Amino acid sequence: MSPTRVLVLNSGSSSLKYQLLDMRDRARLATGLVERIGERTSRLRHTPRSGGTVRERTEPIADHAAALKTVAEELAADGLGLDSPELAAIGHRVVHGGKLFTEPTVVDDAVLAEIERLIPVAPLHNPANLTGIRTARALRPDLPQVAVFDTAFHTTMPESAARYAIDVRTADEHRIRRYGFHGTSHAYVSRATARLLGKAPEDVNVIVLHLGNGASASAVRGGRCVDTSMGLTPLEGLVMGTRSGDIDPAVIFHLARVGKMSIDEIDTLLNKRSGLVGLCGDNDMREIRRRVDEGDEAATLAFEIYIHRLKKYIGAYYAVLGTVDAIAFTAGVGENAAPVRAAAVAGLETLGLAVDDALNTVRGDAPRLISPADARVKVAVVPTDEELEIATQTYALVENSN
Ligand code: AMP
Repeated sequence: MSPTRVLVLNSGSSSLKYQLLDMRDRARLATGLVERIGERTSRLRHTPRSGGTVRERTEPIADHAAALKTVAEELAADGLGLDSPELAAIGHRVVHGGKLFTEPTVVDDAVLAEIERLIPVAPLHNPANLTGIRTARALRPDLPQVAVFDTAFHTTMPESAARYAIDVRTADEHRIRRYGFHGTSHAYVSRATARLLGKAPEDVNVIVLHLGNGASASAVRGGRCVDTSMGLTPLEGLVMGTRSGDIDPAVIFHLARVGKMSIDEIDTLLNKRSGLVGLCGDNDMREIRRRVDEGDEAATLAFEIYIHRLKKYIGAYYAVLGTVDAIAFTAGVGENAAPVRAAAVAGLETLGLAVDDALNTVRGDAPRLISPADARVKVAVVPTDEELEIATQTYALVENSN
């Protein structure tokens, strides 16, 4: 029998998240996270198949190679070692695939070189993703390593949505265009929403709102992305936990010329000290809602700005799509924060949008509709599963090439 397990790796600058799945029944055999790689207090948290006891290790883990070896030891302790013949492939999340990578891709030297060439447009993410791939490749050189790109789903955007209105030669020289991110989630959620409506992805138009600590919206027409809110980098678009989202680019000139801030300082300001945290000191929506309920002014204004931006994108993508079948909320805030969902669609009844208060406050892990039964446009809560999507795409690719 051919192997059916896929290991999914998501390498951050100082972290490594992993999941081992069996694609016969999509069961999660193990999940885990290594944090603070490179520090003395690195920590591994390993969760075996459901019901098993979580295991934790705190010890210095020097780099990603050491982290993956530690992960391999934990998996081996559960009888799931990386040397197992049942392992079909390793799927890697790669944040930036540029214009070239429109599909999941089996990694070879040329692919690695191209991911490396994209480092200038993804300086925080692509180096860590590359390290993860190289480490896994060294450990199992015989195994297909598949890169699944956050940008791939958005490569179907028309030029009218993907281009910034700046000098074309300068844009082309520096590969400046709107790439979009969270694509794996937007792909998964838009398809799951079609399924929830009992339709094929080709037959529905969906606005996906991925609201986590990072946040992005996308307009999906018949299964293909036609616009998304993140751009050259994941800074553009919605108000996020710590990122500003859309601002007038002249704010940057002003801060440099008048505020005498360096480019690095402005970068940190917009990426780390803006968004909800910049507005009210908290980036966790639970805490912000608690403060709103207590009448806290800064938290209330932060919430209102967050919702105002969200509404603008719903309206914009409604206009881009013309006809909308459903709006899907996903990720940490989208899946859990009923007040955000209610506020985002409040007052949009003339667009056929409404939320049923009772349905909206029901909690659950399954995709569900929260709009009234007779709603013209359905509102859905669809939990995202980027790891399952990466595993599915990885497995489909290696299975087809067998
Ligand atoms: P993610 O990036 O998708 O993991 O989302 C993380 C964010 O989800 C956190 O920063 C919180 O703001 C938010 N979140 C998680 N659980 C809840 C909840 N029960 N209610 C409101 N927001 C939540």
